[in-house]
Formats: sequence, structure tokens, C-alpha cells
Amino acid sequence: MSSLANTDPEIAALIEKERLRQTNGLELIASENVVSKAVLETAGSILTNKYAEGYPGKRYYGGCEYYDIIENLAKDRLCKLFGAEYANVQPHSGSGANMAVYFSTINYGDKIMSMKLSEGGHLSHGSPVSFSGKMYDVVQYGVDHETEVIDYAALADMARKEKPQMIVCGASAYPREIDFKAFGEIAEDVGSSCVADIAHIAGLVATGLHNSPIDVLPFTTTTTHKTLRGPRGGAIMCREEFGQAINKAVFPGLQGGPLMHIIAAKAVCFKEALSQSYKDYCKQVVNNAQTLAATLDSEGYRLVSGGTDNHLMLLDLSDKGLTGLQAENALHDAGITVNKNTIPRETLSPFVTSGLRIGTPAVTSRGMKEEEMKAIGHFIATVLNDIENKEKIAEVRTEVEALASKFAIYAVTE
Ligand SMILES: *Cc1c(COP(=O)(O)O)cnc(C)c1O
Repeated sequence: MSSLANTDPEIAALIEKERLRQTNGLELIASENVVSKAVLETAGSILTNKYAEGYPGKRYYGGCEYYDIIENLAKDRLCKLFGAEYANVQPHSGSGANMAVYFSTINYGDKIMSMKLSEGGHLSHGSPVSFSGKMYDVVQYGVDHETEVIDYAALADMARKEKPQMIVCGASAYPREIDFKAFGEIAEDVGSSCVADIAHIAGLVATGLHNSPIDVLPFTTTTTHKTLRGPRGGAIMCREEFGQAINKAVFPGLQGGPLMHIIAAKAVCFKEALSQSYKDYCKQVVNNAQTLAATLDSEGYRLVSGGTDNHLMLLDLSDKGLTGLQAENALHDAGITVNKNTIPRETLSPFVTSGLRIGTPAVTSRGMKEEEMKAIGHFIATVLNDIENKEKIAEVRTEVEALASKFAIYAVTE
């Protein structure tokens, strides 16, 4: 019996139930992934035992000699992966990474210009329910309501009129490529700072499948657990000149001791992401998203902006008389996990919504390819076409489990 099962059978049983849920279902939440056993092992290691407040070579605790080497490895690998000048790998989350960029660069009450949450942005980009909306004056851009993509000319006009101190680009639910160079030019034109939040697309940026903000913007933030396929956490990359200010903003500005087991797992993730097999993986993520989008399109479902350039797509269910909430629940019953999502021109609340966000990173980590995406697109359409039909949903669930059983969670990365 494992020590966990011995000490706490209740939690051990819940972990086993969750393992089965992950194994038997299809995970299509665009922000989720399946980490390698090496990442898992590191995140669960003895490195959790120690405090290491401070930075390599300058800690507030003794006994950090191995932690210094680990953190420097993580920083160097991250800089190599993205071609960045400077990195801070301590942020506990993507939201914290954004907070540190704001703290290091602008003042309380300054103006942030960012993408609306309802059209693809993130809570930490100025939502009134987040610190970012409470601390800063926020103006927001969306997508053009005809094309459903960002209109850079309109953005430039807004920036000239509003004169923000910080422009935030990057999104949680935007299926198209973002032009970071255009954001850089707009920010420069109005004398604003600019941060690219690549939390979702980091893996695609690292492997050249999406243009990179690193050389065109002063700050880039990311999470490490989405397409990057590492432990849950955040990171910041910036120009060398801003490194010290970023460090101070992270610690002692807003965090205490770093999670060194997670920083070590980030280092492992960055090493994996430098490999050819990870490049191949990211290419497959994009190919899979395109195949799934084309399948749903041919099944008669409307895709916001008409398709996808990255790892995710947004389905507009408004012409089907369905809400995102209904669709999410029915697909859940079929063993398919997705999330309801607002779409451009949304008329319903964020708890109901008219759309679904669907992403391919996790199923691609299991080794699924185009053929499986066609099957999944068909499963989704079968459920949504007849959403009250419990029998049909149960039939799809059997097919979902049969497909999932052929792609063990750790088969690819083992
Ligand atoms: C996921 C996400 C984050 C936040 O990450 P957390 O680690 O959950 O705080 C920040 N920005 C964007 C664009 C995201 O998609």
C-alpha cells in the first residue's frame, strides 16, 4: 500500500477516481494538457521541503546551493527556448506574472488598454472583479464584429485617443494569430509600455508556429501549464534592462518563498520543449485543431472567425438554439470535457454563454492525430444535434471510452 493510501485513503481514492476520469474521457479544454512523467516526478519531489526566498546567489536562507543551480538552469533554458534576454521563473501563476509586470512598470491608477474578457481576453487584463480592474483605469478593445478578428487600425486609434501607460495583448479565447509587431508599433507610437501574455500559445511561439513577441515588445508573460506542457505556474521574460525591476516586483513585491519543486519541474518542461519531439507535438496540435475545426464546420457548426490558426477554436451555438452551458453539460455526460465560452456580440451571461471553447493540446499529448479529430468532431456533433437524447449520449460515451482506451495518458511522453 502506498504511503498516501495508508495515511489518507480518502484523498488517495479521489486521486484514483480523477486518474480514471482523465484516462477514460477526452480532455478538450484549451488551457489543459498532460505533463510528462519526468515533470510529474519533479513536481512531487523533496524539493518541496525548503525555503529559498530571494534569487540565485542572493538568498535569505542557507542551504540553497542546489536550488541556485536549478533556478539558473530553468532561467537559462527559458531564455534559450524563446530567445529572451532575461527571465524570472518564480511567479506562482500566469495572473501573478501579469501582476508583477504591472507593479514593475506602471503606477496605481494608471491606464491599461487590453482585450475584453468577453471577446477573448483574460481576467488579469483588467476585469473589474480582478485586482487589475480595481487598481488600474481600464479601457478595452475587442474584435471587429464582422470579421471577428482584431482590427489593428481601430486599436491604433483607440491607443492615440486613450494614451494608456500599458497595452496588454494576448488572449485566452482567440483562435487567430496575434500580430505582436503591430502591437509594438502602436505602443511605441503612443509612448506606452506593452506586455504580451502568451499563456495559451507559448508552445506555438517557442516552436515558431506563431510569431514571437520577444524581440518586438518589452515584456512577455506566460503560464507553463498550457501548450507548454509543464507544471502549473507562470514566468516572465523581458529585456535585460527591466530584469531587476521585475525581480523586485515578484519577490518581495508580491510573493514570498518560491515553489522550488515547481521551478525544477519548469526546468524539466523547458528542456523537453527544446526537443524535436516537442516541435513535432506542437505542429500536430495545430494540425489537429484545424482538422477538428473543419470537421465541425462540415457538420454545420459555425466557428467564430471561420476557423483557427492555433490550438483552439470557438463554436457559436446561437443559431442552433443551444447555450454553451447546455452543450458543456451534454458533452460532459458523453465523456468529453470542454468549457462554455462567451463569443463576440455575446448576449448571455458568462455562466450561460452562446459558445464553446475547444482545444487540442491534451488529446494531442495522448498521441491522437487527424483521424481521431474527425471522430471527435463527429462525437461532438452527434451529441449537440440531439442534446436531449440520453440514449444517444450514452452511446457516444461508449465510443469516447473506446477511443480513449487506445491512447494511454502517458504513452507518448514516457
Ligand atoms: C490562463 C491564463 C492566465 C492565467 O493563468 P493562471 O495561472 O490561471 O493565473 C493569464 N493570461 C492568459 C491569457 C491566460 O489564458
